[in-house]
Amino acid sequence: MPATPDPAPSAYYQMSPGLVDKILLCATMIAGASGLAEYQAHIFPISMLVDSASAVFLGGLLLCRRHLSIQLKLVLMLLTGMVIALTSMVQNPYAPDGYMVMGGVLAVAFAHWPLRRAMLIPLLAVLGLVLITVLIQLHWVVIPPFTVQAENAASAWLILAMCMALMSVAIGGTIHELKARLLRHIGLLEGANARLEQYAFHDEGTGLGNERSLEKNIDADLAAGRSGCLLVLQLSGMELFHAIHGGKERDEQLRRIAQALTAGMPAGHLLAKLDGAQFALWARDVADSEALYQRARQCVLADPALARFGIVPGAASVSAPRDGASYRELMKNIQVALSMMPAQDFAGCLPFSADMARQMQASLVLKQQIRHALDHNGFYPVYQAKVHSSSHRNAGFEALARISGGAEVPGPGVFIPVLHEEGWMAEFGMLMLRRIIDDIPALVQAFGAETKVAANVSPPLFLSPEFVSDLTQLVQRSGIDPTRLIIEITEEVFAIDVERIRRVCRELQQLGIQISLDDFGSGFSSLSFLRSMHFDEIKIDRSFIASIEQDEKSFLLLTSICKLGQDLQCRVVVEGVETAAQLTRVEQTACTQIQGFLFARPLPLATILAAQQGVTAPSQSLPVHLPH
Ligand code: C2E
Ligand code: CA
Ligand code: CA
Repeated sequence: MPATPDPAPSAYYQMSPGLVDKILLCATMIAGASGLAEYQAHIFPISMLVDSASAVFLGGLLLCRRHLSIQLKLVLMLLTGMVIALTSMVQNPYAPDGYMVMGGVLAVAFAHWPLRRAMLIPLLAVLGLVLITVLIQLHWVVIPPFTVQAENAASAWLILAMCMALMSVAIGGTIHELKARLLRHIGLLEGANARLEQYAFHDEGTGLGNERSLEKNIDADLAAGRSGCLLVLQLSGMELFHAIHGGKERDEQLRRIAQALTAGMPAGHLLAKLDGAQFALWARDVADSEALYQRARQCVLADPALARFGIVPGAASVSAPRDGASYRELMKNIQVALSMMPAQDFAGCLPFSADMARQMQASLVLKQQIRHALDHNGFYPVYQAKVHSSSHRNAGFEALARISGGAEVPGPGVFIPVLHEEGWMAEFGMLMLRRIIDDIPALVQAFGAETKVAANVSPPLFLSPEFVSDLTQLVQRSGIDPTRLIIEITEEVFAIDVERIRRVCRELQQLGIQISLDDFGSGFSSLSFLRSMHFDEIKIDRSFIASIEQDEKSFLLLTSICKLGQDLQCRVVVEGVETAAQLTRVEQTACTQIQGFLFARPLPLATILAAQQGVTAPSQSLPVHLPH
């Protein structure tokens, strides 16, 4: 339903038609009653006649009120009132009734009309009195002698005229001033209202509508039974642009994009600026999101500056009403699609599908499961044995994290990425370290004083400012020999802060804790770090071993890395040995230790200790070859 337009500010203080009719009714009754009273009292015959005639005239106006305009009714009513007032004043200038009627007439005039037009009433009244004065002086009008003494009449009416003028201007001026103030306030309020409206529904930076205006429009369209396609355009690379060029340049860039989209998209489409570097596009009665995206993309990339700065527009889309019956539902689903979008440089349009929602739900459940495990001591270490390559005797263990629960619980391949994404890695790492350090005495007691236990430590924990002091405290409190502990770090840490890693490694090594470089050869080469930093151990990535049987190059590389380790005086551990054939090849290298399913699978502490003590029942035979 279209909203009724607001009246102009000046209309706010005009009288409503209903009020004018009520005043008309009052005026009719007063004039009638006054005429009747004068008739009864046999006084002021002229006044009586004027009042009665006025009552009849006003009554007539009242009867035809529906056919007369408000302006005409007012003019006729005010003129009638003026005639009544003047007659009363002329008949008896010392009686108050005439002035009261005049005051009423003035109030009505000033309340409805602007100053200049309202001033006509006192002016006409003064002129009327002056005219009557002149007419009396000329004896053209004869006033009955019982009302006023004839010799005083002229001066009395002159004084009266001046009083009238003063009173009129005073009353009228006051009313006008009040009206002007009211009008000013209304103007201010309207201005403020317009600004609030602007803030509430517009994005200040780009001038486009904001999310609220988008919601209002989409909900209105959906309520009217219309279909459409909602596209959220995400500009990847904007954050980097912001970091390099600053907020002002970024805002300017967003403004240019808004202009390009406004100019390039069809007129019926609705554009809005969402938070961050996102724009929304609502296309009514459109089903093809890909074509819509391509057009929006062309608009954005038409600006060569954007391509130069590496800003890439990707998008997610939903179709209404299929993907939602309200803006909120559509937005919820488009967020799901956005969260599935590749993090960087995705230049395509990802339409929402019900499958995405299921994946999202599953990932939410997983997140909750992991958080629950963190909060309720649900993570525990299992231990995979490492053996000396020469003797196959136990050399120690690598601790690997697991979540307690049945077979359904996720493994490290699933929960480690979630812990990273959620920023829980440092918390998880300390939790694991505490449990591993608690287990070390039992392992050392069962497997001998030379047994070392390796713990995996992720970059966020390794580089956290409290890591060294927290670990020192843990080690000291547990009373273990720090040389029993190995910290495994991966090549990824070098991508962050090499100097800091050197310092932390040195500090840990001074305590006696050993540092192992895990997954060597899987990421970017850390050969240069091997030169400038001493590692106690290098663990060669599983991918090398997987292919050494068929691939001579992998074998050669493995041999070279083992030799390099030997030269650098650090142990070389070969991971992931699964078959006897792989073992044969590995044994031809200078590697120091071997870890793999061929020797042992990762097992809980209790199982390992039980196997070591030979108490495991034959039916529970372990998939582990623990050396004697
Ligand atoms: P990783 O540190 O390279 O650990 C070795 C992984 O290889 C373990 O997988 C182990 O079970 C597996 N493995 C060992 N021998 C063999 C073999 O012969 N064949 C095959 N196919 N696999 C073998 P897991 O336990 O699933 O752990 C996977 C990764 O998760 C670990 O790789 C490590 O990066 C991470 N991780 C596990 N526990 C922790 C932890 O407590 N802290 C941190 N930061 N990362 C952990
Ligand atoms: Ca490891
Ligand atoms: Ca590894």
